[in-house]
Amino acid sequence: MKCSEFLVMLDEVIDESIAAETRAEIETHLRKCGHCEVVLDTTRKTIEIYRCHEIYELPIDVSLRLHDAIMERCKKAQ
Ligand SMILES: [Zn+2]
Repeated sequence: MKCSEFLVMLDEVIDESIAAETRAEIETHLRKCGHCEVVLDTTRKTIEIYRCHEIYELPIDVSLRLHDAIMERCKKAQ
């Protein structure tokens, strides 16, 4: 699995709506790739903060900015 493949699935990873075999691939990738581990952790925390404030969906501009920032970091990491 590549970082870009992981990032495409990030939403599903957080929702835990991924198949067991995909999850295993992701876990293998995360053990090797500290970058994606941080991305997942940061995104999870960001979503938790929003949920604490009872906003169940990220505002679209926040979501887009977060995604852009992640993609930008990912490009630099490769
Ligand atoms: Zn990665």
